[in-house]
Amino acid sequence: MSGIKARLNAISAVINYKPAHAPLNFHETKPTDVFGSNVFSEIVMKERLPKEVFKSLKKTIDQGQKLDPTIADVVANAMKDWAIEKGATHFTHVFYPLTGQTAEKHDAFLVPDGKGSAVAEFSGKMLIQGEPDASSFPSGGLRSTFEARGYTAWDVTSPAFLLENPNGTFLCIPTAFLSWTGEALDKKTPLLRASQTLNKQAKRVLKLFGTKTTLPVVSYAGPEQEYFLIDRNFVFSRPDLLIAGRTLFGAKPAKGQEFEDQYFGVIPRRVLSFMMEVENQLFKLGVPVKTRHNEVAPSQFEIAPIYEQSNLATDHNQLVMTTMRSVAKRYGMICLLHEKPFAGINGSGKHLNYSIGNAELGSLFDPGETPHKNAQFLVFCAAAIRALHKYSTLLRATVATPSNDHRLGANEAPPAIMSMYLGEQLTDVFEQIKKGGAKGSKQKGVMTVGVDTLPPLPMDPGDRNRTSPFAFTGNRFEFRAVGSSQSIAGPQVALNSMMSEALDYIATELEKAKAKGVKLNDAVQTVLQKIMKDHDAIIFNGDNYSEAWHKEAAKRGLPNLKTTPEALPVLTSKPVVDLFTKYGVFSEAELKSREEIYLEQYNKTLLTEANLMVRMARTIIFPAAMRYQGELASTCTALKGIGHDFKMTTLEDVTAKLRSLQESVSKLEKLLDHSSASTHAEAKYLCDKVLPGMADVRSWADALEAVVADDLWALPSYQEMLFIR
Ligand code: ADP
Ligand code: MG
Repeated sequence: MSGIKARLNAISAVINYKPAHAPLNFHETKPTDVFGSNVFSEIVMKERLPKEVFKSLKKTIDQGQKLDPTIADVVANAMKDWAIEKGATHFTHVFYPLTGQTAEKHDAFLVPDGKGSAVAEFSGKMLIQGEPDASSFPSGGLRSTFEARGYTAWDVTSPAFLLENPNGTFLCIPTAFLSWTGEALDKKTPLLRASQTLNKQAKRVLKLFGTKTTLPVVSYAGPEQEYFLIDRNFVFSRPDLLIAGRTLFGAKPAKGQEFEDQYFGVIPRRVLSFMMEVENQLFKLGVPVKTRHNEVAPSQFEIAPIYEQSNLATDHNQLVMTTMRSVAKRYGMICLLHEKPFAGINGSGKHLNYSIGNAELGSLFDPGETPHKNAQFLVFCAAAIRALHKYSTLLRATVATPSNDHRLGANEAPPAIMSMYLGEQLTDVFEQIKKGGAKGSKQKGVMTVGVDTLPPLPMDPGDRNRTSPFAFTGNRFEFRAVGSSQSIAGPQVALNSMMSEALDYIATELEKAKAKGVKLNDAVQTVLQKIMKDHDAIIFNGDNYSEAWHKEAAKRGLPNLKTTPEALPVLTSKPVVDLFTKYGVFSEAELKSREEIYLEQYNKTLLTEANLMVRMARTIIFPAAMRYQGELASTCTALKGIGHDFKMTTLEDVTAKLRSLQESVSKLEKLLDHSSASTHAEAKYLCDKVLPGMADVRSWADALEAVVADDLWALPSYQEMLFIR
């Protein structure tokens, strides 16, 4: 299909758009009835399980106690009955392999009974453990092929749910995915491990403050998901969007986002219909989506849920992504989750709002009202300061993907330099602590921990620094470097582990002081002062996008790992291996496998894109430009034939650009004819040599797009993709 045809189809799709279904009727069906209706929730379990079984299960869910395997059969039976009553025919263990995607393998409930009929079967064993043929999932050397099986293990803390399809319904059971030797092959297992260790260390600190709670301390996540929606017709004639999820070519449109007329603007009708259906489906699955709005770039939007416990928030974010992808198609659109689908236009991220606490304590990053509560808050905040300063490169590595490389530091997202925004007041408090006397001897104007109350800290969103990678926002931190297509598990595994180390350090110092008879307030003052002296270089309240900050950060010794090949080796660096092995989150082998897998993914992505680029340049762009060149040449000949004397500037211009395009494509092809000694060497090569080669090809193709006759150009333009909706 030519670009022109795609354009006409897209225009007709917009003009003739009619909702495919009867409108969602929230007058007859209350959203409160819809919410969670497809979840095997606490309410359903309470209704359907014997009291003792329910109690035991609830202990595992709420208190993190070990699952009693003897109850599995009863739970499985109740789950099966519930699912079948609601129309399910199959069940699947859902797991989250290291590709960052969601994986599932369906099995029917029905089994033949040997008498020519069939019965529904679902045992405790089938609930607890599955054995998907896992040999095609990346294991980074953790599994040799002769023992290629992995197994999935039921995650009781994330409820089972039903997914509806026009042709049937199936039961989904969230699971962890491991090798037979117990190594994590997924994103969920380490998150569960890191949450456990966080609870342990946080509890030690709380105990010193005499703060009691019956619940574990957990981490919370509220991911703000950005995405693009474009008409599906365009994608069919853009192999780059189809294969790579981003445009490899495309001249800058006459209008981009500079008018700033899109942000929070009126949402187009078809898009709004899409959003409403996405929300309706997510409500059924118990995903508490809350906010929808237009984003900065044309055709860019955001969906944000109410924050939940990390593990659940992570599973739910995966559901948000898969639901948006599938619903968009039904509305004639494609949902692009790529971090940078369009060059020169803002990309998409996923701000990860992060806090720790529990239902009884609230957020431990919330200042509180008494000097005592303030002191406890300052300790948790200081732990975050130490954690980010000590492990900034680790956090950077968790967002290192080929697609996110296009976004970080591009004046729309924070740079690769990690720093913390605390706001002026809180920074001032910590500065005072740094200067203040350890014995609590109060100097004038200097705050004494545990005696004075904090000044009221502003929580006004208008006030916030939008350029910081890691910003304090009143009762939580907002990590802004996460990519839109990424699983949020990785960053949270790192955050929980880093926080564990810092809380462990603080608890140990305070326990030592206590044993020596030092008063808590004095001990806290001493440890906070030490943390500030060692780690305050990480605090920066200014403009993270500025050149001045890059210089200043270098002076402060803050690392700046600009690209994925620079960032990923951090995963196997000594401090990181020590951190994760000490707290039982990853073994060294697991870390090595992850580094290897992520590097491989980087290489595969870049190679695919580069090959696609060569193909598109040769088969789509070059022919279009050459046809135009031919037209110009015949016009020139004709004009000369009737005696016109003129300079053939356009023809010469097109000819020169065509030649440059051809040269740059040949150069890129030569660059691709190459092999490297290791995965890492290959990644570096692709990053340092092939990416610039690709940029060169693109610059000539885009220059041609700006001069070649529009009716000859086969690729839909930025203009039409971004503004026809
Ligand atoms: P903004 O765009 O102004 O940053 P949004 O309302 O779009 O804010 O998103 C804020 C996100 O932070 C929401 O998902 C919200 O539920 C979440 N959030 C609020 N409080 C906490 C908290 N204590 N811990 C983690 N996430 C939180
Ligand atoms: Mg938002």
